[in-house]
Amino acid sequence: MEATQTPTTPVPPLNLAANFQQIRAEALAELTEICDSGYYVLGPKVAAFEQSLSTYCGSKHALGVSSGTDALLVAMMALGIGRDDEVIVPTFTFFATAGCVARLGARPVFCDIDPETYNLDVAQFEAKLTARTKAVIPVHLYGQLADMPAILDVANRRGVAVIEDAAQAIGASEPRLNGRKAGALGTFGCISFYPTKNLGAIGDAGALLTDDPNLHEKATKLRLHGETTRYHHALIGGNFRIDPLQAAILTIKLKRLDQWNELRRQRAARYSELLEQTGLVPEHVRLPRDLHGTHVYHQYIIRSNRRDDLVKHLQERKIGAGIYYPVPLHLQECFAYLGHKPGEFPHAEKAAAEVLALPIYPELTDEQQNAVVDAIVGFHKR
Ligand SMILES: *Cc1c(COP(=O)(O)O)cnc(C)c1O
Repeated sequence: MEATQTPTTPVPPLNLAANFQQIRAEALAELTEICDSGYYVLGPKVAAFEQSLSTYCGSKHALGVSSGTDALLVAMMALGIGRDDEVIVPTFTFFATAGCVARLGARPVFCDIDPETYNLDVAQFEAKLTARTKAVIPVHLYGQLADMPAILDVANRRGVAVIEDAAQAIGASEPRLNGRKAGALGTFGCISFYPTKNLGAIGDAGALLTDDPNLHEKATKLRLHGETTRYHHALIGGNFRIDPLQAAILTIKLKRLDQWNELRRQRAARYSELLEQTGLVPEHVRLPRDLHGTHVYHQYIIRSNRRDDLVKHLQERKIGAGIYYPVPLHLQECFAYLGHKPGEFPHAEKAAAEVLALPIYPELTDEQQNAVVDAIVGFHKR
């Protein structure tokens, strides 16, 4: 598996159109059927998808919603989280994890990360619990599960809800919890079907998983403005609906998800093997660690202390490297009112300065991977 000398092969950060080609005929048949039916929001195709999703993830209930962000929002609304409540979140995550907490008037309480896995530091989570803490949101960043056995242990002892942000981890499973899957481990699990995610819709969509029939019922009402019967509102909800076209596409793709996740794992293993052979590891480039559960490699993350120059070098060679995420949330302008300072969460701040995502998707070819590794080698030879 030697990297070849073809540094000109372009490697796009994603190839969503190639992915669609694999389901094209089935998808277009569904599109025709849905367009002809005149039934464009919720309905039987959504119910069928929810059934397939809960079976796949191993939760009792699944609720299709408008996005992963809205899944987080509805989960917290169903738990009654609001003013004066505190919700514990890692500072190193996508914005929505904490944004949804603040939108409900609650306070995001940030924690640092474990530098090996980039996921919630469990000791800090426990240390930050107060009488006001209503929930913790572990994020399974990059497709690797947070330390759920430890998080569940603390949360159960202290009586706080666990809302998994499983937006990047659909299909990841935890052998220490009987092989249960991401999103089916906590009180609620939130999934995103944003097109770039491991299971992507052809627009925005998301889902909420839970085993609790009462929370499922409440979330179902919240999805439709809190209606109990038509035009009678027991709760203040919103429009968090999903449409049958997204549900139908997702049902088709769900059947292939395990196979696609397996290809991602193979690509990740091959990156690690090729990078090890370059002699750059660990001095110049550090590789991802696969420590908790079966990692589904939403992203393949390396670290470099010359990260910004390396990204520029790769992008100049048409290699779609990305940075997730360059600014931890405690340092975002919109959260200045929380009064955090640089240096407060050193592992997150260091990760934000050093991480770099290499292109990874099921359709990535060996030749493209070789080109990525060659370009990384080229950068360090300059
Ligand atoms: C994508 C993502 C979300 C939000 O999902 P959308 O469907 O884009 O609203 C939330 N959290 C994490 C960690 C994500 O990666």
